[in-house]
Amino acid sequence: MERKFILPIAVLSLLSIAFGESTTVQPDFRQSRDEAVHFLRDLVRMDTSNPPGNESQAAKYIQGVLKQDGIDSELLEPVSGRASIVARLRGNGSKRPILLMAHLDVVPVDRSHWTVDPFSGTVKDGILYGRGALDDKAMVAANLEVFLQLHRLHVQLTRDVIFLAEASEEASSPAGMAILVERYWDKLNCEFALNEGGVSILENGKMAYVGVSTAEKLPRGITLRAEGSSGHGSIPRPDDAVTHLAMAVAKAGNWVTPSRLNETTRAFFAGLAKISPPEEAAWYRNVEDPKVQEILRVKKPIYYSMLRTSVVPTMLKAGFKSNVIPPVAEGVLDVRALPDEDLEKFRASLAGLIDDPQVKVIPEDTAFNMVPSPPSSLHTPMYQALEDAQKKVFPDSITLPVMQTGATDSSFLRARGVQAYGISVPRTEEEGRSVHGNDERVETNQIGNFTKWIYLAVTGIGTN
Ligand SMILES: [Zn+2]
Repeated sequence: MERKFILPIAVLSLLSIAFGESTTVQPDFRQSRDEAVHFLRDLVRMDTSNPPGNESQAAKYIQGVLKQDGIDSELLEPVSGRASIVARLRGNGSKRPILLMAHLDVVPVDRSHWTVDPFSGTVKDGILYGRGALDDKAMVAANLEVFLQLHRLHVQLTRDVIFLAEASEEASSPAGMAILVERYWDKLNCEFALNEGGVSILENGKMAYVGVSTAEKLPRGITLRAEGSSGHGSIPRPDDAVTHLAMAVAKAGNWVTPSRLNETTRAFFAGLAKISPPEEAAWYRNVEDPKVQEILRVKKPIYYSMLRTSVVPTMLKAGFKSNVIPPVAEGVLDVRALPDEDLEKFRASLAGLIDDPQVKVIPEDTAFNMVPSPPSSLHTPMYQALEDAQKKVFPDSITLPVMQTGATDSSFLRARGVQAYGISVPRTEEEGRSVHGNDERVETNQIGNFTKWIYLAVTGIGTN
């Protein structure tokens, strides 16, 4: 690792005062971007596809980077070869810590659909390609860069800043966050956390809004299992498992579950109404109207999902030969629960709707899975610092709180009382689709903006 990015502190202080952005010392954000991109390339080149993960190679790389700057770190390796890495910058102890976290593992690739080598970190026309370029090595690199700058510039912190790059986010396992918070909470305990999440969609180079996630839905799958008598396919039977399952799945998939707003979604839709064209604005002002919800179901399905616990049939399993009636048929429902959902009651309602004694409603095994977590507040110094930093880095935009329909490891933190916020690197809609898809990519300039946003938010809350 080179040290070419370091400038003397005095020069930097003068620079930041000259630009009048803040009295807190700031790095040269262009050099900072270049270094973050350099880290991201190195990280993308390490194949941490999960399964199997092999995150230790990336954790050790980061350990090396930190060591060059004289920062001690620790590998947390509950499963061999699958390390997470944690490091800490000390504040004066007057306030509780901030955690900067991101995950090291990535989802596997189907190379046949990529136009570049997914593990080469190719940069073309200001765009970096590779698995993890957005999800989530971009945030690992940005957090690492912010952490190094705070250290190099001797920023006087009131709070400890903890860096965590974790293993096993993409598939739950004993190497992931469930076990880390259980075994190493003393190393991670904090008041605020920044993690993946949020939305920052670029349209013609601009972002309508910067979404900071303050809440997320809880994945809690359900299996529907129908049992009947087996027999020859030439003789129809009233207890045919496949027929009973099909009717149950259809009812579940068409169920318009009860809708309700929480603090986050209420503020989100109110904010969205202010920045949307008139027709859409009217929808968002009236999201509780069932007629509006029907429109959203077709035109804005993600907003429809934000309003309720959703039920989506995703897998069917039955039979092995066309002339044999199978005794069992199973269907899997992807259920994403609102943060305050009473899941036992919810399953009872579903069973009531299906109303078929032959069909059992079975909750999925949730070992190491995300845990129920309360939303984080919109009225904390951390949320405010993110919004203040947004105004500096993305001045044409506004900050809105969002509830994610997908799940992140923030749930483990929120469940322990941490106010956790999800943020993301700005991307176009198309770049966004490359997450878990093909030709995953990120604009290197946006890595710079993202790094700056985090730096300003952390110094905004961590120095006074
Ligand atoms: Zn991710």
